[in-house]
Amino acid sequence: MTAFNEMGLSEETLRAIIELNYELPTPVQEKVIPHLLQENFQDVIALAQTGTGKTAAFGLPIIEKTDMSKRYTQHLILCPTRELCLQVADDITSYAKYHKNLRIAAVFGGTSIDRQIRVLKDGAQIVSATPGRLLDLIRRKEVNLSKIKTLILDEADEMLNMGFREDIETILKETPSEKNTLMFSATMPNEILEIANKYLKDHIQVTIGKKNAGADGVVHECYMVQAKDRYLALKRIVDFYPDVYGIVFCRTRIETQEVADNLMKDGYNADALHGDLSQAQRDAVMNKFRTRHLRMLVATDVAARGLDVDDLTHVINYNLPEELEIYTHRSGRTGRAGKKGISIIIANLKEKYKIKLIENQIKKQFEIKPIPNGKDVCQKQLFHLIDRIEKVDVKDEDIDAFLPDIYRKLEWLDREELIKKFVSVEFNRFLEYYKNSKDINVYDDGYSKKANFVRMFINLGRKDQITPPDLIGVINDITDTKHISIGKIKILQYFSFFEIDKQYVTLVLDNFKNTTYHDRKITIEITEEEDQDKRGGDRRGFRRDDRRDDRRSDSRDDRGRRDYKDRGTSSGRSDSRYEKRSDSRSDSSRPSYQSDNRRKRTPRTD
Ligand code: AMP
Repeated sequence: MTAFNEMGLSEETLRAIIELNYELPTPVQEKVIPHLLQENFQDVIALAQTGTGKTAAFGLPIIEKTDMSKRYTQHLILCPTRELCLQVADDITSYAKYHKNLRIAAVFGGTSIDRQIRVLKDGAQIVSATPGRLLDLIRRKEVNLSKIKTLILDEADEMLNMGFREDIETILKETPSEKNTLMFSATMPNEILEIANKYLKDHIQVTIGKKNAGADGVVHECYMVQAKDRYLALKRIVDFYPDVYGIVFCRTRIETQEVADNLMKDGYNADALHGDLSQAQRDAVMNKFRTRHLRMLVATDVAARGLDVDDLTHVINYNLPEELEIYTHRSGRTGRAGKKGISIIIANLKEKYKIKLIENQIKKQFEIKPIPNGKDVCQKQLFHLIDRIEKVDVKDEDIDAFLPDIYRKLEWLDREELIKKFVSVEFNRFLEYYKNSKDINVYDDGYSKKANFVRMFINLGRKDQITPPDLIGVINDITDTKHISIGKIKILQYFSFFEIDKQYVTLVLDNFKNTTYHDRKITIEITEEEDQDKRGGDRRGFRRDDRRDDRRSDSRDDRGRRDYKDRGTSSGRSDSRYEKRSDSRSDSSRPSYQSDNRRKRTPRTD
């Protein structure tokens, strides 16, 4: 790896980046900086997402290539949004901290043009601009691009998505032909290649990661629900991730506002960001989000562009984007700077084909996950609460004065009761809310086949009051993993069929050996025939027996079940492992909880 000080950067620049704690160059910097520092270099098209360090990749070399004795514009950076434009200008300003004679101007719409004109007149050598405002300045003859040495198109694909193609082409005509052009783009749709072929001279291509691929640290998850259940699904997912800090993407401004309003009404720490808000309102919301005073930002793609937050835990696609490339952008907002992130889509069955197209594009598969059920959510929230209690910072000096009175008031409670009560204060409302929550998953055949599933039989069914999410919970608990992809589930009266990813079959069979569910030994087998539950199949005998169970509903020791034991696990020993978990989950005295970003939440039923 080439270190920054081996690249030919000036002392002043090195000093600035040391102060910023940039120890080693990122991959895009390693490739681009030495190239741009050459005397004559070829144009560049770089495939790099935001968060890869691309600003420094072009920012540091253009600082070095600036003639600071001259007070005219030498480098122009075009950005899709005001936020990115400002961020680029700010970053370059900090890299140029020790280059006293370097001037950088940020020109963007929605704010006074006069002040920007003054900065340009002051002799800014580097200009970061959004296309609309720059065109305005060109028309007013307040900016002169005739001596530009470098033109940088930052987030080029975003600029095209936002309909800036014509503006960009008009701006390009104002620049000299002997300049160098650099294009940075997170994805490489055909239109980008078209523009590159038209405006870039003999150029090199720098690819960080795979073309159009998602960021490495991102796990992609898909939850299938009916369109009408989208909002419920969103709440369940968010409740299942108590530490969520993320963006919920919607398609339209109206939908964005509606979802944000509903979340706020339901007590979530969320707000909306879209184009119907004034710039001042948008700035205020973004600021609250950046400083983590907001945990969830519900946003349109356009409004969220340029919002630079590196440590999002989740990106939630409330709706799939119209353009496939937009998914890459959305998901690339998490999993940045070496961190892990989860990109979630809430989809319906009609959108399956789109999911497939996105998978092809990001070169990763979605993990199809069931919407967590009430039990899962409560368990997760409860343990999150306990975790917070364990880790809370106790301010002895402040609390000490109150403790004697508190001890006196609570002295009639023993330790267990006290814990139960403390936890219940927060958790009860949660439990109440989820008490009668329904299963909103949509189970689909097509997906199962795609992932190479194997069909399994289990002797638990409606009679055991088992629902598909319960069954998934049982599988997760008994195998002690949540990674098993589960396909189609069919719950019948006394038994059920489900599909699992074939690589987990042995694990499932092994772990289910000698397990019980409410005193009943679980039997699990691979079942070959797709529709044997309908047609009879090779287990006809068993099912007939089992249906007889239906009539003799109280009998647990009937022939059907015995028949089952014989085929199933050999040992009669009953392992209470699962049963214990199941007991603890169904304990009616289970305390309830709500998370800190949901303090004022009014429990509502699904
Ligand atoms: P960018 O892709 O330009 O938006 O950069 C993403 C983030 O990474 C910014 O916060 C930069 O300050 C930071 N960054 C850029 N280069 C480096 C580096 N070599 N080492 C550490 N952080 C960096």
